[in-house]
Amino acid sequence: MSDNIRVAGVSVDTRHWIGGERVASAGTFTDRSPIDGSALGEIARGGPAEAEAAVAAARDAFPAWAATPRAERARILHAVADGVEKRTEELAIVETTDNGALLRSHRRGVMPRVAHNFRFFADWLLRLEHEDFETRGHTNHVSWDPAGPCVLITPWNAPLMLATWKVAPALAAGDTVVLKPAEWSPLTASLLADIAAEAGLPAGVLNVVQGYGSEIGDALTSHPDVRRISFTGSVPTARRIAASAAANLTPLSLELGGKSPLLVFADADLDLAAGLAVEQYDNAGQVCLAATRLLVEETVAEEFTRRFVEKATALRQGDPRDEATDIGPTVHPRQLEKIDGFVQRAVAAGARAVVGGHREDGQYYAPTLLTDVAQDSEIVQEEVFGPVLTLQTFTGEDEAVRLANDTRFGLAATVATGDRERAERVTSRLVAGTVWVNCFFVRDLRAPFGGSRQSGVGREGGTWSFDFYCDLKNTVTAP
Ligand code: NAD
Repeated sequence: MSDNIRVAGVSVDTRHWIGGERVASAGTFTDRSPIDGSALGEIARGGPAEAEAAVAAARDAFPAWAATPRAERARILHAVADGVEKRTEELAIVETTDNGALLRSHRRGVMPRVAHNFRFFADWLLRLEHEDFETRGHTNHVSWDPAGPCVLITPWNAPLMLATWKVAPALAAGDTVVLKPAEWSPLTASLLADIAAEAGLPAGVLNVVQGYGSEIGDALTSHPDVRRISFTGSVPTARRIAASAAANLTPLSLELGGKSPLLVFADADLDLAAGLAVEQYDNAGQVCLAATRLLVEETVAEEFTRRFVEKATALRQGDPRDEATDIGPTVHPRQLEKIDGFVQRAVAAGARAVVGGHREDGQYYAPTLLTDVAQDSEIVQEEVFGPVLTLQTFTGEDEAVRLANDTRFGLAATVATGDRERAERVTSRLVAGTVWVNCFFVRDLRAPFGGSRQSGVGREGGTWSFDFYCDLKNTVTAP
């Protein structure tokens, strides 16, 4: 296989990165662009042998990296951030070509956030306190020890952002990493390996393996030398990973799917609320946090819908490389099929498409709003992961909260109201890892992030990331 491919003018090595070297596999898989379905190149298709080699490299590199002074680890992570900033344009165009998300978001939002992930966790590490407690004259000294090799498995909807949300704190903590990006978006993880090496990250501290989760996943997640597994992806895959990790009781962090509500009360600024609702089509709806269930107070439902339709129909769907485009393609023909399947079954069950409800050319799906949907129906209960919203009405806070909490998920929720006290009452009753009031998506990295119920296990962000990636130790010393 050829080692390098050119994607939008950028050279990307398609082999694994293990122990500071590029490693090929006997097999490959074809990576395609969602923009036009064209083949971008052949990617190394790893299996158990590559998993074994990568974990061994991470294990061998661990003692020296764990012993590296915090300030030096932080310096290298800042150098990685510098490298990301220097290559923002390349990373942005490669990511867009690979997963179809908007170039303008990658340029101005996502890649700066990737760099920030490294800077933030580098700085946070230096502020982590080593706590001391006194008991009967004995000192209890609490330390945050590096845990060991971590396996990090990530999805395709925000590949480099989600990968670095894990890679950065793990490396800062003094752990070593095996990163397995999604097979539908393998490219920027490979570029990250180059950037990290150029920044001076020692060989074996960050390893990247490519391939299908079904072929390389088990070997990574059941490996006895792996000390942490952090996974972002779907609930069914999380179940498999949890079962595989159970063999060694490897600690898991799971960031999973959602079916989040947007509650619109009659006292809300309806224009703001309709704007928040339309924002849920970002990344063609392929966002875990997306508030896909619009719950609108009966008395304003008609007016809200009118404003929503006005905004939704003004969205421009098209080539994600075009700065004027608001909605790009779905990531893969299989994802498109899945989305359309959900919509067609909902319509067959009596739902009405107020906007959209159909495919467009290529891998595009029309932004869709479905009404006349039952609370216990598939379209209300299951994650579609596409540009598909449902609208239901409610009367009063109790019904709003009941509908909002009535799924097996609990990732996020958004509340639109003009009444601060109502906002407090309602948010305190919502089951969700993140709740936004009159806003969406803004988040401080110091705050915990994760999901309740089947939206996840554990929290990452700020100190919570270090709670996960470190082994906490209490050393008790006699007077
Ligand atoms: P997925 O579960 O199909 O795949 C995610 C990753 O798991 C991929 O890298 C895949 O190769 C790997 N994988 C598959 N089988 C595996 C196995 N047996 N062992 C180990 N790894 C395996 O999910 P997806 O379709 O890529 O992503 C979409 C899902 O991710 C949605 O449910 C979405 O809500 C969720 N998501 C959650 C968050 C969050 O922060 N909570 C963020 C983004 C996406």
